Amino acid sequence: MSLFVRFWGTRGSIPTPGHSTRRYGGNTSCVEVRVDDALFICDGGTGMRELGEALLARSSDPVDAHLLLSHTHWDHIQGFPFFLPAYRSTTTLRVYDVERDDDRVHRLLLGQMRPEYFPVDFSELGSRIVPSHLDGGCTTIEGVTVRAFEQVHPGRSFAFSFAKGGTKVVYATDSELDRTVINRSDILDRPHALRALPRDALAFVADADLLIADAQYNDDDYRDGWGHARANTVVDFAIQAGAKQLVLFHHDPTQTDADVDGKVERAMARIRAAGAALTVFGAREGLELKLG
Ligand SMILES: [Zn+2]
Ligand SMILES: [Zn+2]
Repeated sequence: MSLFVRFWGTRGSIPTPGHSTRRYGGNTSCVEVRVDDALFICDGGTGMRELGEALLARSSDPVDAHLLLSHTHWDHIQGFPFFLPAYRSTTTLRVYDVERDDDRVHRLLLGQMRPEYFPVDFSELGSRIVPSHLDGGCTTIEGVTVRAFEQVHPGRSFAFSFAKGGTKVVYATDSELDRTVINRSDILDRPHALRALPRDALAFVADADLLIADAQYNDDDYRDGWGHARANTVVDFAIQAGAKQLVLFHHDPTQTDADVDGKVERAMARIRAAGAALTVFGAREGLELKLG
């Protein structure tokens, strides 16, 4: 079994091209998860454009991909109209909703290509686009167990897990994890204390080999109600869930490369203080990990 994860877009909220974001990257959320021959694309942020070009360059075989969107905020769908394989008649794209009778994802991908927003109509994409679903939150796709978990985020968002042969990856972005902390007053009153999180969220991530998680904010620049998490809360989440590696993801658009470095260093210090065996790093465009 082989499992690869590659980051094509790591930024939250809006693309941030420029000198100060060159290392971690300025494209918005898009992560490729390849398990043996199965290709999963987590989110269609602006990073999806370069993924499309890479897929066409990598092989002359038809592209057959499973597209899972955490939700349909702009920074998670804007790359889709620029995904070149979608224009090829040989491509099959399965676009997933969680529930069987939901068509929200398909409907909103189509909606953002209305002529007021984009020159090419959705109906002119030459590929085979198949509305699909995760059977309410757990299904098997090409031998991979795929699960969904609803998170706290304005307009709803879902985390996804991919497991096969004892290896598990969780993609959990756009989650206001802090709102689910069991003693929320502790976050401000006892910032160094471990932040206890609900059992169902911990069970979803339990023993993940890799957790990719929304860690947009530091403790001191947190914006309550904006739908994202403090990196320190995510560290505590990963420790309690027994994750092996944590990737801080969905960097705030105001954060420079040096700011993200600082966020990662503080996360490392928190892990050391807790005496936990957890590896942490910042999601960086172009980074590829091999697991399993
Ligand atoms: Zn986002
Ligand atoms: Zn969002």
